[in-house]
Amino acid sequence: MTRSLLAAALVLLPAIARGATPEPVVLLTESQRREIAVVVRAEAELVPLEPLIAGLGVQLRPNAANASLGLSFQGRDATLYHKKSLASVGGDLRLLSSPTLLENGSWLIPVDAVPRLLGPLLGVRSEWRAASRVLILGNVTAPRITVSTFVSGDAVRVVFEASEKVPFKVEQEAGRVTVSVARDIVDTAFTQQRLTGGIVDWVQWVGGRGNVFTVTPGRRFGEVQYQEQESPARLILDFKAPATAAAATPPPAATKPGAATPAVPSPTSPEAPSSRTIVIDPGHGGDEVGAIGAGGTMEKDVTLSIARKLRALVQNSLGYQVFLTRDKDDVVALDDRTAVANNYKADLFVSIHANASRAKGAHGSEVYFLSYQASDDDSRRVAQAEGAIAAPPADAPLGTDLSLILWDMAQAEHLEASSALASRIQEEIATVTGSEGRGIKQAPFRVLVGAAMPAVLVEVGFITNSEEEKQLLSDAWQSKVAAALLRGISRFEQGRGDR
Ligand SMILES: [Zn+2]
Repeated sequence: MTRSLLAAALVLLPAIARGATPEPVVLLTESQRREIAVVVRAEAELVPLEPLIAGLGVQLRPNAANASLGLSFQGRDATLYHKKSLASVGGDLRLLSSPTLLENGSWLIPVDAVPRLLGPLLGVRSEWRAASRVLILGNVTAPRITVSTFVSGDAVRVVFEASEKVPFKVEQEAGRVTVSVARDIVDTAFTQQRLTGGIVDWVQWVGGRGNVFTVTPGRRFGEVQYQEQESPARLILDFKAPATAAAATPPPAATKPGAATPAVPSPTSPEAPSSRTIVIDPGHGGDEVGAIGAGGTMEKDVTLSIARKLRALVQNSLGYQVFLTRDKDDVVALDDRTAVANNYKADLFVSIHANASRAKGAHGSEVYFLSYQASDDDSRRVAQAEGAIAAPPADAPLGTDLSLILWDMAQAEHLEASSALASRIQEEIATVTGSEGRGIKQAPFRVLVGAAMPAVLVEVGFITNSEEEKQLLSDAWQSKVAAALLRGISRFEQGRGDR
């Protein structure tokens, strides 16, 4: 780079930074519309909490000792932490795109995290529409717009129909016609359509603040006329070939002859389904036999048997690559099991175990994901039996949310997905084991800490319960459990796109 170019670049940079002040966010609730200024910190856009919850009756409990903020609304709770990209809502951890901040006594929330925090807290629908910069809190309705096209020999009709009267605005630009709708938000399922015949090539939804659709005329385009109708509210655009219609001659007389036609983005083709990988971890092995039942059944054998059944099911019905951390009666260190999953760049890690308890009546299945703090005493005992991570640092300040200490560990950024995976598996396995009421649990399992992907540990039943020991040995029951695990996994996989 020459000196003068470098100088120019240095001059430009601050200008870009200054120009980066984003437009305010529009907050839409059922009763009002408010503009809220955003601030930018470390390239993230944040909005102040106060105007979002003004007048709603949310109770706030600032905690200066650990720089957190508790929020309560109609029996539901949430906690924000200064400088943490993690919040808890109704007891569930929520990962945020950037940290919440406490600045000059005011809490700032990443704008895209508002729906995940305030939606569940307030018990309302919430959505952040980045393109139109609109935050929705509550049952806000938007006009619904459908697009239809009709192609004939020398004309193309494009019809925009709205579910209520909206202000359509039509503009002709170089090489395209835009239709915008001056509303904060509109709903449309339309994305784009490629037309043949050469009069109109494309109709596309661009969105953005102006809720813009574009129509790109083709080589045979001559002129466009439009009209509006009421009930139903419609805008009708008629694109026609030139009146002389010499079919072979292509004079593409758009509004401004000679103007360059903007590049039209090519239609997005659905990507080929990427191959997914799952690592299944049969607990224990070799001399490390795990729990033993009164009848002599060893946990290590049950876990391997279920893991093999699950492998076959996942391969056959999901077509995934599946690896086991052990496929024979071997000792494998806990950390090595996670390393297998990380080496294969697995998308999911499922560790299979069978439980033990001194209480003879203890029964049923449990599904865990990682936490420093065990959900209860039983969970802590289970983690101790299966290999727990060291106790939290003694110098952790009182009141520190221990789940936050996990922040530096590989599993941290997958905790939310892990909890979702645990939920899906729990819901399915409970139908086999009759443990519906148990819910998912958290405990500090060493085998989950280093997993760089959603990871859960499943206790399929109590080997120390004589009834369940018999079940655990039964081939039919093992198959049922494996099938339930498969259903849980595939439901989690189907839901991935929603998160
Ligand atoms: Zn075990």
